[in-house]
Amino acid sequence: MNSKLSDRVNQMATSATLAMAAKARSLREEGASIIGLSLGEPDFTVPDFIKQAAIKAVEDDYHSYSPVDGYADLKKAIALKFERDNKLHYTADQIVVSTGAKQSLANLAQVLLNPGDEVLLPAPYWVSYSDIAKVAGGVPVEIKTTIDSDFKITPEDLQNAITPKTKMMIYSSPCNPSGSVYSKEELRGLADVLIQHPDIIVVSDEIYEHINFGEAHFSMAQFDDMYSRTVTVNGVSKAFSMTGWRIGYIGGPSYIARACNKMQGQVTSGANCIAQIATIKALETPPAAINYMVEAFKERRSLILSLLAEIPGFKTNVPQGAFYVFPDISYYIGRSLKGQHISSAGDFALFLLEHAGVATVTGEAFGDPDCIRISYAASEDDIKKAMKSIKETLTQALD
Ligand code: PMP
Ligand code: GLU
Repeated sequence: MNSKLSDRVNQMATSATLAMAAKARSLREEGASIIGLSLGEPDFTVPDFIKQAAIKAVEDDYHSYSPVDGYADLKKAIALKFERDNKLHYTADQIVVSTGAKQSLANLAQVLLNPGDEVLLPAPYWVSYSDIAKVAGGVPVEIKTTIDSDFKITPEDLQNAITPKTKMMIYSSPCNPSGSVYSKEELRGLADVLIQHPDIIVVSDEIYEHINFGEAHFSMAQFDDMYSRTVTVNGVSKAFSMTGWRIGYIGGPSYIARACNKMQGQVTSGANCIAQIATIKALETPPAAINYMVEAFKERRSLILSLLAEIPGFKTNVPQGAFYVFPDISYYIGRSLKGQHISSAGDFALFLLEHAGVATVTGEAFGDPDCIRISYAASEDDIKKAMKSIKETLTQALD
């Protein structure tokens, strides 16, 4: 807290995922051996054909500002990707390219929310949704779920959370942090509630679309009666391991796209020109090209689930997508570990960092104080070492 700073930033939480990653980094710099399972960042390198496209863009002298909402060729590739993968028809005036899906989400909150507007967040939700909504004056409204319902909301839960002030709902499927995937039927159940409330805009975050081990991905906007009030968010960070290249995009109603374009024009201008050109190549490529990453994540999921099952007090669901497990660790809350009182999932995550040398993220940041998030976007070796260390540390600490 610093009184010279705005209330806006003073009231804002630091991103828990990035904060934990920074903490792990600085402990490592001090010589500690820390296995980082906090950040949702694929450990693969960027596929070669994408790197080559970026190198060519530099050599072709791409250097100047792009159109604020993205190059026309990139928007064409995004439109084709939406047709190919999601059977969604978006024209160029419905698409905006941004500096990561995070900026796409921030734009949406800024252009759609007025102070006091309520934003429904099925919990657990991705860490930044809540503060992105708050910075725009919105009021996050969590819809609680539990591991017993696979962390998914029901139509009744949704209905009960809607008030005359509800303006937006944001969810991710596959979900960060729970890995849950909503089926077409489950989304239809939610859509049946939403069609009775035509003023609510749905933001469907599909950034983990391709990292899906279960049934086929379905987009809310594929329902004809939801299309005109749904914004589909996606990006290349996860599927193509391009986290640092910072490209995300939306498809949605043209009036919303125009507003995002206007907002972005005053805040960042267009996204990085080289990364945009490389993204054309990424999106033109059929998703089968990244099957090797998806298969590796699937194997790591089995590995981490089997190792977690050996650790006392961890209760897990079977995530159907993304690359996280979100175990319920409430067994440890209220206990003492090595003389340290664990009063929250945050304390537990810190205990694991300090005593087991493993960085995870507290579930509190995702709206679920009973859980921690563990990313398995890490090598099998690191996963094995980390789980072994957690198991041994906790077994000894409980004695
Ligand atoms: N949505 C979800 C669910 C995420 O996990 C992330 C994390 N990267 C983002 C959006 C933001 O992604 P980007 O790197 O494109 O900003
Ligand atoms: N989305 C990733 C995560 O949840 C990256 C960190 C971030 O953007 O906050 O870990």
